[in-house]
Amino acid sequence: MAEKILVENLVKKYGDNTVLNDITASINEGDVVCIIGPSGSGKSTFLRCLNRLEDPTSGAIIVDGADLTDKNTDINLVRQHIGMVFQHFNLFPHLSVLENITLAPTDLGKLSKADAEKRAIQLLETVGLAEKKDIYPDNLSGGQKQRVAIARALAMNPDIMLFDEPTSALDPEMVGDVLNVMKKLAKQGMTMVIVTHEMGFAKEVANRVMFIDGGSFLEDGTPQQIFENPQNDRTKDFLNKVL
Ligand code: ADP
Ligand code: MG
Repeated sequence: MAEKILVENLVKKYGDNTVLNDITASINEGDVVCIIGPSGSGKSTFLRCLNRLEDPTSGAIIVDGADLTDKNTDINLVRQHIGMVFQHFNLFPHLSVLENITLAPTDLGKLSKADAEKRAIQLLETVGLAEKKDIYPDNLSGGQKQRVAIARALAMNPDIMLFDEPTSALDPEMVGDVLNVMKKLAKQGMTMVIVTHEMGFAKEVANRVMFIDGGSFLEDGTPQQIFENPQNDRTKDFLNKVL
């Protein structure tokens, strides 16, 4: 399997606080990785380093052979291949659903307006929201907003998708629709790195679960290994609290 993301000796400090402590990890094409761990353990920081929304203190992050920490790497070009979905959707409130989705591909000259709209409508069909194309985000439920945010990220045809607690801000009845969209993506072979507290989803959809605590990955294995036979005491403690 082709290596998609390689993280080498990644350290991230905020002042004296070491948030990521010498992380080395490799993610293959088509991997669906769920990252689990307690609050404040460094999950979001790790994910944000993968598209350099955060600048690492030291170490290397290599995506498709391009070192994101190398000053000569065109970070904007690399980012075009990495979609990101946040807990709080971050849709543009002054743009319609359709405009939210067509903005990046048209602004960056990837697609004509007509082609971007065609693609956006296909994506809205995929996430089950074609009838909402002319609505503004304020008039959508949380779950609908998140599905639009996923469609928006997909509009750039990324080959990696990063999700940071995509269902944590949703009412429980909205969670399933969003997870189903993510499941569909996983089935299509998308490389996905997902920070989540949805252990059921991790068990069912991930091929790999990584447990992080105190800025280090303490355990990394199949869902079966992590959930049924965790080796590390901190993994066991964490799972006892959340399962
Ligand atoms: P998680 O997503 O696992 O809850 P985070 O990656 O958000 O954890 O945060 C890990 C640690 O880094 C926390 O102690 C947090 O306070 C700290 N941290 C995160 N972002 C910043 C920042 N921009 N400035 C200073 N400290 C930060
Ligand atoms: Mg977080």
